[in-house]
Parts: sequence; C-alpha cells; structure tokens
Amino acid sequence: MKSLRFSRRSLLIGAGGAAVSELMAAPMVKNSGEHVAVVGAGVFGAWTAHHLQQQDHKVTLIDAWGPAHSRASSGGESRLTRAAYGKDAIYTRMAMDSLPQWNALSAISGLPILVQCGILFFFPTEEPYVQDSIAAHKRLGLRTDVLSQTEMARKFPMIDFDGIKVGLYEPDFGALMARRSVLTLVDRFVKAGGTYTKGFVQPPSGKQLQELQLSSGERIHADRFVFAAGPWLPKLFPDIVGPKILPTRQEVFYFAPPPGDRRFQPGAMPGWADFNGGDIFYGFPDLETRGLKFAHDEHGVEVDPDTQSRRPTEAALAEITAYRDRRFPLLKDAQLIGAEVCQYENSSNGDFLIDLHPQWSNVLLLGGGSGHGFKHGPEVGRYAAARLMGSAKVEPRFSLATKSETHHREVH
Ligand SMILES: Cc1cc2nc3c(=O)[nH]c(=O)nc-3n(C[C@H](O)[C@H](O)[C@H](O)COP(=O)(O)OP(=O)(O)OC[C@H]3O[C@@H](n4cnc5c(N)ncnc54)[C@H](O)[C@@H]3O)c2cc1C
Repeated sequence: MKSLRFSRRSLLIGAGGAAVSELMAAPMVKNSGEHVAVVGAGVFGAWTAHHLQQQDHKVTLIDAWGPAHSRASSGGESRLTRAAYGKDAIYTRMAMDSLPQWNALSAISGLPILVQCGILFFFPTEEPYVQDSIAAHKRLGLRTDVLSQTEMARKFPMIDFDGIKVGLYEPDFGALMARRSVLTLVDRFVKAGGTYTKGFVQPPSGKQLQELQLSSGERIHADRFVFAAGPWLPKLFPDIVGPKILPTRQEVFYFAPPPGDRRFQPGAMPGWADFNGGDIFYGFPDLETRGLKFAHDEHGVEVDPDTQSRRPTEAALAEITAYRDRRFPLLKDAQLIGAEVCQYENSSNGDFLIDLHPQWSNVLLLGGGSGHGFKHGPEVGRYAAARLMGSAKVEPRFSLATKSETHHREVH
C-alpha cells in the first residue's frame, strides 16, 4: 500500500484549479439591508440561502414542492462525497473545503449527515485519472491510500476485484444522507431567521426583475434573485438556459444484505465506484439498514422532471443485477428492497452553472449539478452568494458562456 498522508497545507497553494476562497475578489464582508429571493430549496439553493444569511442579508427561500422532495435531484437517500476528480482539481478542492461544513451540519442534526465510511475508487488500468487524482491529493495534503489488487481484496473481501489493477481509498470521505441534510439545512436557516415558503414561481420576464410572481397570484419583491431550480432551470429560462442543461433519467436500486453479515456495514465496506473503462457503476454499504445501494452512472434517456415515470424499469434492474453478481458474488440472489428514479441535470461537459443572468445583473443562475453536485453544496453556495453580491471573480468553468448545447461529458 502506498499511503499518501501529507500534512494539510494552505488551500491557497495552487492545485490545478482555484479554490472558492481564491475566487473571492474581495473578502466577504457582512452586509445588511438587501432582500434576496432564492428559488429552489435543493442542495444548491439551500446552501446559497445559508451563506447569504451569514452575510446578514434578508433571505426568502421558495420551493414549489419542498426541500429535497422525491422528484428533486437532491432527494433520495445518499450521495457520495469524494475528492478524487482526476485532472479536474477545482472539484477536489471544493469537495475538500465543503467537508468541514458538512461536518458542522452533521453535528447539529441529531442523526448523522456525513457517514465517514471511506470511499474506494477502483480501476482496471493505472489511467491518467488515477495519476492526476494522486497528484492533486498530494498537493492538497489529502489522505489517500493507493491500493494494489491484493491489498483491496484483503481489505474489502465483499468485492471481487477480478481485472482490477489499482484503487484509491479516501478514508476521510463517505456518504452524505441527502434528504436529511437539506431538511436540516433549511431548518437551521429558518431557525436563524430566514423565511422559507412553498410556492411555484412563474418564469420571469421584463426589462428588469424586481419581483417574482407565484402561481397563487402572490408576488415576492426582492433586490436580488437566485434561481437554483435544478432540472427545472431550463423551463424557467428556455431561451437562455434551454438545451444547455439536459435532464437525464437515473435509476438506483437497493438490495438486502445477507442476514447477520457484518461485511456490508459502513466501517467494514466503503462507498465505492468501479471505473470500468469509463462505464462507471457505484454504490454504498448498508447505510442505516436501508440496503446496499447500486447504480449505473451512465446518462439515461432525456426526461422531463415533471412527467418522467418514477417506476423503475426491468432493463435497468437486469443490468444492475448482472453487474452486482459479477463484482459482489456474495450478493447473488439478494432481494431487491427499494428503488428510486431520479434525474441528473447535465451541463454540456459536467461543469456547474454559477453565473449572472446576461440581461439582469441582480439575478444569478445556479445549476448544472451534472450528477456530481451534491457533495459541493457548501462551497457552491458560498461562491454563488459571493458571485451574486459582486465579491467573487468570474470562474470561466462556471460561466454561462462556456455552456454549450452539444453535450459531451468530461468531468467524472
Ligand atoms: C441518482 C442520483 C445520484 C447522484 N449521486 C451523487 C453523488 O453520489 N454525489 C454527488 O455529489 N452528487 C450526486 N448527484 C447529483 C446531485 O444530487 C445534484 O447535482 C444536486 O442534488 C442538484 O441540486 P439542485 O439544488 O441543483 O437541484 P434540486 O435538488 O432539483 O433542487 C431544485 C429545486 O427547485 C425547485 N423548483 C424548480 N422550479 C421551481 C419553480 N418554478 N418554483 C419553485 N421551485 C422550483 C424544485 O422543486 C427543487 O426542489 C446525484 C444525483 C442523482 C439524481
């Protein structure tokens, strides 16, 4: 085992991608008097509302259905948090800088939000992604164990590592309890004096934006606005965002572990992703006895989040079962005990959208989580709040100008 355990250095030392702290044009100062309306109480909107509130703004958070509801991209049980991002070290830093904020939220939630079960990524070859991730971790002082096939087989006997050459194990990362974390965040926001309201916001129009119109007829006046509408963002801004964000169908399955078997518990088993030559599968141990999660990271068909069927398909179940039986032979014949149908809201290459509206300088467009956004919620929110208030530099990777209508995923 090659163990990379460097002491943490200043986050201001370059790592091939700017930290959010480096993108701040001026130190974040406490403001007062501005009213900001945030549309969307998913992970991006909720963290943005929190950071705006921390800057002493009056914040109203609005959602049509509720924080991390069952059709939102932030809904469901769990999300991986990891820092391995290959060449895209900007996300390594955001994941790392988000971790203490998740831990702080976990400390007040009563039930865990971050389950530090460790994350194992494994690869059939020592591809550039592996080397780039190791280099980024080294520069940032992140703990990573580089494991051979034999070492992985010894440490994680519930996985068959046939054809696998190398693994990256991140002991400080793990699982975020998705719905619980957003609910806790909104609860903390309300207890700290923020306003949360349920309402369906109509697509905005006009020369300037000074108020939101809800389907109920109610109007919400504000100085500035954040639209963090996840897969619904293209519907709110069909001309400006439109096909630049493409929602795709994703199916997730849960299987029962063998009775009394401790090998599938967090602590014994990590969260994992099998790079599988770019055709990635991932999953979790038996978190809170919900079952062992399995999912295929491939983008499914294009969908409408309002109308897509939430019934899992036999084809996706057959595919995931075949994969499970190959890599997790101890789970052969394990009973299916749950499923979720969700969607990714993909930007053209997987980079987030965090930019001002091209015509309305008091409006921030926020989205494009692209199947990997959840873990970055705290730092996305911090940058989004600063960008809206004019105290953050433009990060080209998050700009509207870099979003294309031709989709080719690059960030993994
Ligand atoms: C199956 C699956 C697995 C994933 N796995 C991971 C993972 O392991 N790790 C990771 O980091 N990320 C993961 N992601 C990605 C991550 O969950 C998303 O990027 C993130 O949750 C997006 O959050 P959001 O706030 O942008 O969107 P959402 O959570 O969808 O929030 C948008 C909100 O806006 C509201 N809204 C929309 N339109 C209106 C309107 N007109 N008026 C009022 N409200 C409105 C909606 O009701 C919704 O609540 C996964 C996603 C899925 C679906």
